[in-house]
Amino acid sequence: MNLFDQITGHRQIKNFFSNALQKERLFSSYLFTGPEGIGKKKTAVAIAAMLNCESTENAPCGTCRSCLKIQEGAHVDVNIIAAEKDEILAEQADNILDAIRFAPFEGKARVFVIDNAHQLNPTSGNMLLKTLEEPPSGNYFFLITSKPDSLLSTIRSRCQEVSFSSAGILEALKEDPDFDDSYYPWLKSGGGFVEDRDALSAFTGIRRLALQFLQEMVHPGQKSGLEIEDKVDETVGNGGKEDARIFFFQMEIILRDILAVISGKENAVINRDMTPELKRLAQKITPEAVFQLNRLVRKGASGLSYGIKIQHLAPVLLAEGVKAMR
Ligand SMILES: [Zn+2]
Repeated sequence: MNLFDQITGHRQIKNFFSNALQKERLFSSYLFTGPEGIGKKKTAVAIAAMLNCESTENAPCGTCRSCLKIQEGAHVDVNIIAAEKDEILAEQADNILDAIRFAPFEGKARVFVIDNAHQLNPTSGNMLLKTLEEPPSGNYFFLITSKPDSLLSTIRSRCQEVSFSSAGILEALKEDPDFDDSYYPWLKSGGGFVEDRDALSAFTGIRRLALQFLQEMVHPGQKSGLEIEDKVDETVGNGGKEDARIFFFQMEIILRDILAVISGKENAVINRDMTPELKRLAQKITPEAVFQLNRLVRKGASGLSYGIKIQHLAPVLLAEGVKAMR
């Protein structure tokens, strides 16, 4: 499947880049801005695939050798750069400058995707200024950020800015007759659980807790934070990692349901018994906030794989959620 078709929404942006390629009017440095989790990086990677695709009619085809390698993160000319701690360091910028002295090794174009570009520190940022302004031919930069205002202004001014909005996604969801789950790959990763409605009902306690947790983020103070944390401890604290995983997973499904309600697709709600609560939440929450909360939930869930206990993850998640909703 064409990699652009795998990205929900952002039709104008995808068309823009397809046309720019055909007319050879692509700039070399772009800044992608917009909320977290909306598809900026995925789009940048798809463009990297488009630039290197072996298909002339259907780039990025998603199936040629080059597209496959890029999707696996195994293409030597497509580099994703991210902060190792909280900053993108001078030595990372150095590696970019080193690589760029040579022609692309494997493909037609070398692409650098700099994720969370606002984490470039002043040193690494300044090192890249000249290259961003005029990279050697065949090299492209895609800087990704949800915080363009935190970016060095000298960097920002050297890039063509492309703004991603959740309106683009909602539009696509509304047009989608099935409101399928293609936008929610993480649902598929645990899909057996979702498809099995009986299994769902067996986890009512955890589901309810997941709902309460989200309600507490959106309307803090209805229940005391401590009360909720105690409940987490009680409901999933002793069930081991699996229950904790389901807890996070349920929150993701509820967030997905909220998005379904916001986009007028109530019939696509999975947690139908929660419809009144979902409607109430949908009135208080923007699509952007849904994505943001989802990101926090996924971050929390990934803490489990580092062996962090749910009792420690839950309070942090709650506090971050409340902060994000302010
Ligand atoms: Zn291809």
